[in-house]
Amino acid sequence: MKPTLPISLCLIAFAASFAAGGAQAAGHVIQHAGDKPSVVGSSTMFTGKVRQDSVARADEFSTSGITYVTFEPGARTFWHTHPAGQRLLIVSGKGLVGTADGRTDVVRAGDYVWCPPEISHWHGAAPDTAMVHIALTNSKNGKTVDWQKPVSDEEYAELAAKAIDPLK
Ligand code: MN
Repeated sequence: MKPTLPISLCLIAFAASFAAGGAQAAGHVIQHAGDKPSVVGSSTMFTGKVRQDSVARADEFSTSGITYVTFEPGARTFWHTHPAGQRLLIVSGKGLVGTADGRTDVVRAGDYVWCPPEISHWHGAAPDTAMVHIALTNSKNGKTVDWQKPVSDEEYAELAAKAIDPLK
């Protein structure tokens, strides 16, 4: 008995089937920069100049959508709630995140914010500095956000002036 040959053949067959399977299986999916156009933030949701660059929507694999949001200085969201919460990753600049209890925090690139479900809040740029964040917004029954009233200019100025700055 010389099993060497059959085993070798078997290994070759296995390797070939593995390679073929790898080639046939659905691989990663790349969405290249520029595949989706930038969108101007609606004046029914934002005050000031805001740009939204959607990366992905919630789907059967992930409960959260991903969007880059770019706020020019002074720009901010309306007051709003998220039925299933939202994660914010500040990727550049300096911004503000406020809650209905009157607390407002200064955030900068690298900071991470968790906005719990059903807590009324807003986020945006600092008065003189732009801010970009990635919003990972959870979906509940297909809904990600409930919009409320704008953060008025007077309210924004007042909240920005008393915002808690960890660097001061
Ligand atoms: Mn939010």
